[in-house]
Amino acid sequence: MKSLNAQNAGAVAVIIYNNVGGIVNMAAGAVGADVTIPSVFMGKLDGELLRDNLLRWVVNATFVNNSPPGPDYLDGDFDNGIIAHEYGHGISTRLTGSNCLYGDEQAGEGWSDFFALMMTNTIDDNGEEPHGIGTYVSAEQNDGRGIRSYPYSRDMDINPMTYDYIITESVPHGVGSV
Ligand SMILES: [Zn+2]
Repeated sequence: MKSLNAQNAGAVAVIIYNNVGGIVNMAAGAVGADVTIPSVFMGKLDGELLRDNLLRWVVNATFVNNSPPGPDYLDGDFDNGIIAHEYGHGISTRLTGSNCLYGDEQAGEGWSDFFALMMTNTIDDNGEEPHGIGTYVSAEQNDGRGIRSYPYSRDMDINPMTYDYIITESVPHGVGSV
């Protein structure tokens, strides 16, 4: 609805940013098919940086679709990381005690990501280089961000998350990734 309202008001594109930390997937909603302009979503920190600059400067934005030709989202059945993640929930959820993994600080989604990383790494991989979860279904290379706020990496320049991030990350997937 936000994008349609902007389009009807003459916008050529829409940037929506989150009012809390982390990224969520925007759903098309009932009127999504009526939106013909590009619409992107960004996290709170980036959005506030953009907003603050818009108050002071003329900001030029270019929308670039880096995805290869083809569908925007690919079949998760062919994403080894997702398959390992979901099977990993046999341990990271179902074998972990009946009430251990329902709190707002529970890490089960991150544990399943760990299984995915371990099952898909190669002999050349190391802990510093970025490894995203769900990169294939997102039409990205293995070092893309995927479906978490940051790709996994010990390099704090690539993944700056500390335990403090659980305050603003989504529950359970964002918190688990922290
Ligand atoms: Zn999961």
